[in-house]
Amino acid sequence: MNIDLYKQLFCDIDNFKIKGLGPKGLVALKTLGIDSAFKLLYDFPRYYEDRTNFKKIDELIDGEVATVKGKVLRVQLLATKNYKKIFKAYIFDGTSVLESVWFQMPYLRNSIKKDMEIILTGKATREARFKMVNPEYSFSVSEFPILPVYSLCKGLNQTARRKISKGALEFAKFFKEIIPINIMNKYKIISREEALKEIHFPTNNAMLEKAKRRFAIEELLLLQFLILRRKINLSNIKGKSYDLEDNRDLVKNYLNRLPFKLTSAQKRVITEIHREISQGKIVNRLIQGDVGCGKSVVAFVLMLYMVSNKFQAALMAPTEVLAEQHFLNIKDECEKLKINVGILTGSQTKKEKEKILSSLSNGEIDIIIGTHALIYDKVIFKNLGLIIIDEQHKFGVNQRKVLRDKGIISNLIAMSATPIPRSLALTIYGDLDISIIDELPPGRKEVETKVISLSNLQKMFDKVKVSLDKGEQCYIVTPLIEDSEKIEASSAETIYSDLKEHTFQNYKLGLLHGRISSQEKESVISKFNNNEIQILVSTTVIEVGVNVPNATTMIIFNADRFGLSQLHQLRGRIGRGSKKSYCYLINPSSRESRRLSILEKTQDGFAIAEEDLKIRNAGEILGTKQSGVSDLYFVDLLKDVKAVKLARDEAIAFLSKECLSSELEFELFKRFEEKSAMN
Ligand code: ADP
Ligand code: MG
Repeated sequence: MNIDLYKQLFCDIDNFKIKGLGPKGLVALKTLGIDSAFKLLYDFPRYYEDRTNFKKIDELIDGEVATVKGKVLRVQLLATKNYKKIFKAYIFDGTSVLESVWFQMPYLRNSIKKDMEIILTGKATREARFKMVNPEYSFSVSEFPILPVYSLCKGLNQTARRKISKGALEFAKFFKEIIPINIMNKYKIISREEALKEIHFPTNNAMLEKAKRRFAIEELLLLQFLILRRKINLSNIKGKSYDLEDNRDLVKNYLNRLPFKLTSAQKRVITEIHREISQGKIVNRLIQGDVGCGKSVVAFVLMLYMVSNKFQAALMAPTEVLAEQHFLNIKDECEKLKINVGILTGSQTKKEKEKILSSLSNGEIDIIIGTHALIYDKVIFKNLGLIIIDEQHKFGVNQRKVLRDKGIISNLIAMSATPIPRSLALTIYGDLDISIIDELPPGRKEVETKVISLSNLQKMFDKVKVSLDKGEQCYIVTPLIEDSEKIEASSAETIYSDLKEHTFQNYKLGLLHGRISSQEKESVISKFNNNEIQILVSTTVIEVGVNVPNATTMIIFNADRFGLSQLHQLRGRIGRGSKKSYCYLINPSSRESRRLSILEKTQDGFAIAEEDLKIRNAGEILGTKQSGVSDLYFVDLLKDVKAVKLARDEAIAFLSKECLSSELEFELFKRFEEKSAMN
């Protein structure tokens, strides 16, 4: 076999002459994101039309897609008023008659004739009798009894798409086997070539299942190899050991001045990480803890520890608002401790940025807070020793890596409030160790949460006024920045101007969203901090990090549009002071009220996340879109937990004895890494 041909499969599709694929088809495929032979053959059917299993016409259900087989009783060619041609055929299968209609296909009269046996697949709708409009038709079941149905786009119909697959299968034999041979044997996995043929044009249902199983195992194994290899690469860096004096002066100094005592969970996690660092281990850890458990303090303590020991530390946050908030929180403290802290975000002026960049590279800055701006090439550190990523679920795996590579030593701590079931954590964050802060600071008040229908808004506003009059503050959150024609939901701008003119004209309102300038943002946040703004109308930019204990009410418009975990996270902005707090979830539809009511009942982030996971897919929730995980076709990481564990064990067993084959290495890069490297 030709190794070059194998590699070509992952390159430009133009390199192959595929039967059935012309220039037009090529353009269509590319709009579907299919630009290599690999992607073409791995663009698996969405479902299949099973022509081995015909539905009786009198058993059809209104609206279902089904396949029927029968005899043509009668055909008709008609013309509409505007001379459009309609071809009709009436089919009888011994139970009932089905009317099939094709528009603008008069030539069908040459192929569909009275008394023929015909097979039709399409959506059946119930009228006087059952009817199918433009169904797919064929005359024999012999060739491919189970037909693939693919995703299509403009300029590409199902018949053409099938032809392309058929043509491409000629190249199936060039795909090298990537599943290790002993695993192939142990689990009786069919070969890649055979599986490719069967997944596109199954001989029968049993073979289709075998093909699906093969690709599921392939996905799971590749994912595990990917993760384990990252972990191994990481432990290899250990050679780069570093000396640390284990100086804790700054930390002690800071903790002594802190107005509260650390919770025992905070202490435990800090000790865990201190120990690792002081032993010269590379830290690669995820800190999980519910909203408000005090992850920022932990982060700051660890950064101070590094600074005491002559290293720089960086904290990356997903939004400018959060980065600024972190910066404001520690600025004064840093001044007292006589260390330099800086902030780097995308919207700073060139001059500001340049100043920061130069003091990062000459080591003047000890601690830098920033957004994605921190991962740009130009950012060079003198001796970065620790990277902390806040709200890690908002970042991709690769962004972690880029930042890590900037360090002298690659200590990395990711923090997240989104709890992840253990099995999933093993899979997706398999390259991270996990610490959990499972305790909230004492004195936290439960946030009383209520789902509110539109008819009760006025009553709610009246209650809010009472609390505002007592000097407390309020957040109002909306899903959109401005009104949209496409999406029926409240926007921050409209709500802001409405409330300002009507309901709350005697109060001070502020507006915050991602599109206002960072200067303005800073000013709005600081005014809200000082109670110069009583009501902050905002998008979810306040979801993370904003900390104003005097805010006791949160109103969330169109709560139905948010995931439960996100609502829980938003709600975490209140209930931070000594006063009782209220969260109102405005639900314009009655549909979502059951789901939302979970938030009325519990404050437990883990329980809430679990509910969330039941409804949404893992990639979406965990923000792993760029990790390759969401590209899985066959495996549901949440449901197939057992299979995930098994794959992990097999992958570990394999790696303990052998190295990955060069083909496997190659495919890991092509299928997972290359893409995320470009993101
Ligand atoms: P999160 O874990 O959601 O990032 P933060 O770090 O923002 O939470 O902390 C939330 C609030 O709790 C902050 O106001 C912080 O000062 C406060 N806090 C943190 N740790 C403690 C503690 N041990 N005791 C009392 N308050 C604390
Ligand atoms: Mg936080």
